[in-house]
Amino acid sequence: MINTWQKNWDESKTGRKVHDILTKVSLSPSNWGRTEMLFFTGHGTFQYYLKRFHLSHTSNCSCGEEGTPIHYATDCILTTSWHMSKPSAYLEKE
Ligand SMILES: [Zn+2]
Repeated sequence: MINTWQKNWDESKTGRKVHDILTKVSLSPSNWGRTEMLFFTGHGTFQYYLKRFHLSHTSNCSCGEEGTPIHYATDCILTTSWHMSKPSAYLEKE
């Protein structure tokens, strides 16, 4: 059953960003807290996510850029005081 789950996880077309971080399936929960879960899955009150599920008419943030988690964490002028450094392109996957 674990092998089937792993195969499905490896071949799935969704959740690839999380797959890049949690490559192996496990019956033990990850050590992610709520904020890590929201950020890495993108399943939160992000405009991009709300639009995807037709809960908003736009995927753009109030600043005009696409409202993805990485936008709010690194680029958005409205969340400047909470910014972290944007990773280099070659480190973005990590
Ligand atoms: Zn913004």
